[in-house]
Amino acid sequence: MTDSKTLTILQLYPNEMNIYGDRGNVLTLVRRAELHGFSPEVIYHDPGKPFPQSVDLVVGGGGQDSGQDKVQNDLLRINDDLHMLADHEIPMIMVCGMYQLFGRFFKTADGKTIKGIAIFDAETQAGPTRMIGNVILDTPFGEIIGYENHSGQTFLGKTARSFGKVKKGAGNNGKDGYEGAIYKNVYGTYLHGSLLPKNPVFADELIKQAAIQRYGKFTPAQIDDTLAEMARDVARTRPR
Ligand code: GLN
Repeated sequence: MTDSKTLTILQLYPNEMNIYGDRGNVLTLVRRAELHGFSPEVIYHDPGKPFPQSVDLVVGGGGQDSGQDKVQNDLLRINDDLHMLADHEIPMIMVCGMYQLFGRFFKTADGKTIKGIAIFDAETQAGPTRMIGNVILDTPFGEIIGYENHSGQTFLGKTARSFGKVKKGAGNNGKDGYEGAIYKNVYGTYLHGSLLPKNPVFADELIKQAAIQRYGKFTPAQIDDTLAEMARDVARTRPR
C-alpha cells in the first residue's frame, strides 16, 4: 500500500480573482502533484471566511479592478496569516491582480488606492495603455512563457527581486525590462495563459517547495511533458 501524502492547495478568492484561465494553475498543480505521488486537496478562501489552519501551497489569480476592490478588506484581514506562511517558506503563486495586491498598493486610473499586503516591495500605478500580449521571460526556472493583460505598471523597490527578465513583452511596467517579483518562495507575475500548464518546470518547483516544507524531501516522478513542450513551441512563435 502506498502511503498517500496530502498537499493542501489554497486558492484565494476564486470568485473575484480568477480570469484568463488562472484556474488552470490549480488544475495543473493538482494533476502534477498526483503524478508525483501526492494526494492534493484544494481548498478555497472567500471574503469573510476563517483562514485555513494548514496550507502547503497558495494560488491567486487576476481580476478586474472591481474584484481587487472587493477583496481588499479581507486580504488586509488575513495579512498576518499570509505573511506568516510566506516567512515559513510556503510557496505561493500570485498572478496579475493578486500580484499587485501582494505589493504595497495599486492606484487605479481614477485615483483610488487599493491597499495591498506588502509581501513584495513593489507599488503599482494604473498607466494610460494596457499591456497585452504574449510574453517570454528568462527566469531562475528557465524560459517562462505566458500572456499578459494589465494596465497597472509595477515598480519594484530596492529590496525586491524580480521573477525574470523580459525577452518578449512588457513585463512589470514596459520600461525597465523586469517581470514579476520573488520573496522567499512567493512568486508574483503578470503571466496568465494560464501560466503553469505551459511551464511544467515551474509548476514542479512549486510542488517541490511545498513538499519540502511539509515532508522534508521531494522525489520527482518522470512526467511525459511532450504536449506541454509542443504548446511552448507554438507559444514561442506567436506574434506579440
Ligand atoms: N486591474 C489590474 C490591471 O489592469 C489587474 C488586471 C488583471 O488581473 N488581469 O492592471
